[in-house]
Amino acid sequence: MSFDVDLFVIGGGSGGVRAARIAAGYGASVMIAEEYRMGGTCVIRGCVPKKLYVYASRFADDFADAAGFGWTIPQKPSFHWPTLVAAKEKEISRLSQIYGNNLAKAGVQIVDSRAEIEDAQTIVLKKDGRRIRAKKILVATGATPVLEPAIPGLEHAISSNEIFDLPVFPQRLLVIGAGYIALEFASVFARLGSQVTLAFRAENILRGFDEDIRQGLRVELQHAGIDILAANLPQSIEKRADGLAVIFANGETRVVDQILLATGRRPHTIGLGLEKAGVEMDSVGAIKVDAHSRTNVASIFAVGDVTNRVNLTPVAIREGHAFADTQFGGKDVVVTHTDIPTAVFTTPEIGTVGMSETQAREMFDVVDIYKTSFRPMKATLSGRTEKVLMKIVVDGKTDRVLGVHILGHEAGEMAQLLGIAVKLRANKADFDATFAVHPTAAEELVTLRTRTERHERPL
Ligand code: NDP
Repeated sequence: MSFDVDLFVIGGGSGGVRAARIAAGYGASVMIAEEYRMGGTCVIRGCVPKKLYVYASRFADDFADAAGFGWTIPQKPSFHWPTLVAAKEKEISRLSQIYGNNLAKAGVQIVDSRAEIEDAQTIVLKKDGRRIRAKKILVATGATPVLEPAIPGLEHAISSNEIFDLPVFPQRLLVIGAGYIALEFASVFARLGSQVTLAFRAENILRGFDEDIRQGLRVELQHAGIDILAANLPQSIEKRADGLAVIFANGETRVVDQILLATGRRPHTIGLGLEKAGVEMDSVGAIKVDAHSRTNVASIFAVGDVTNRVNLTPVAIREGHAFADTQFGGKDVVVTHTDIPTAVFTTPEIGTVGMSETQAREMFDVVDIYKTSFRPMKATLSGRTEKVLMKIVVDGKTDRVLGVHILGHEAGEMAQLLGIAVKLRANKADFDATFAVHPTAAEELVTLRTRTERHERPL
């Protein structure tokens, strides 16, 4: 049987691009299809533009804090949304171009088209109807926003796909949800000048994160002027002359300019032809894969958010790389999805790695907690009411550090380095033996000598 390519990758996002480049580097003939813009969610309408907007938003705090350090700002600073949107667009276009160039340099053929699976080894390019026979197919189509809750008037709401490029800055913004996306955008828009309401179905934000961090961030979001409506979802949305009128479960009505739905993301598998090839999916439409990212069909593989394992860019990249190493590089590489450091880019940030206190107490007999909450040095002169929170979760029997959780400036940067320590299975004694860098906030992590709590699991 003859094939056009050794590997056909569907989706030019983080996972797909990495897999294509690495496979091509091993000498495979590779084709990659992307229907939108090369780079995928992270580069085009996710991590990258989000972080640029986070930077933009933080100037608001810097202007406000400057007076305490002797600065006089002659005029009230003003913010021009179209300038930020245009600057962002320039940068993501540059990055998208680089992704394309790097693929081309690696010898990968790029097709700007939607691609669908016809059978286990055939792809159809929707742009021109061309059929490509591939020895192996990698599905790396990511995820798309879930448009929920299903309420009357939902068509007036937007998702994170649209929010970056709004033609008019929303003076009044309602954000629905309490996960990464909801909180990051609530935090950004509050600082850029929106009056932000955050509404969600649970009692608290960030389900699954450490309880102290959840509570600490909630307080900080309130300090930033965000109006929090817990366990209170919209029941309907109506377009009126003065804006979008939202009726909440508690009967209250609020009028806003935009409504951002951030109620999760769903694997992007609909209409891909996976059923035709017999690829198994789970109840949310995620492609079922084993540790080597193999589906139940021998020639079809999947990496990244479309598999709904851990939905983070660095994980998709690692999965794509491991797939290429294993299938084309003669190595056997498996990704273990543990001790993954992560950050939530609110202001202040969350940086975390390893187990929360709750998870640790479920799994270990004795759990020691070391935690501290303090006013960062910068806040002394700026007068800002802000607390840094740091918490180390330790196995009380072996002294191993199970998790570290931080709420504070640059917590994401700290989480990256703490990820190394936790990966190396550092003990609390190793943290204690490490010299402090003074004066930093991070030094608290190596000077936290006194145990705050000990929890023993009942026998
Ligand atoms: P999350 O899963 O983090 O949060 C979804 C939120 O929506 C939760 O608050 C959830 O509530 C709520 N929700 C879910 N379904 C409904 C519903 N039907 N009605 C009302 N509320 C609902 O998803 P996000 O969209 O925030 O982010 C998607 C993924 O993208 C994340 O899991 C993360 O992996 C990734 N991401 C990572 C970032 C980073 O690394 N900084 C940034 C942005 C995204 P409840 O808690 O009650 O379930």
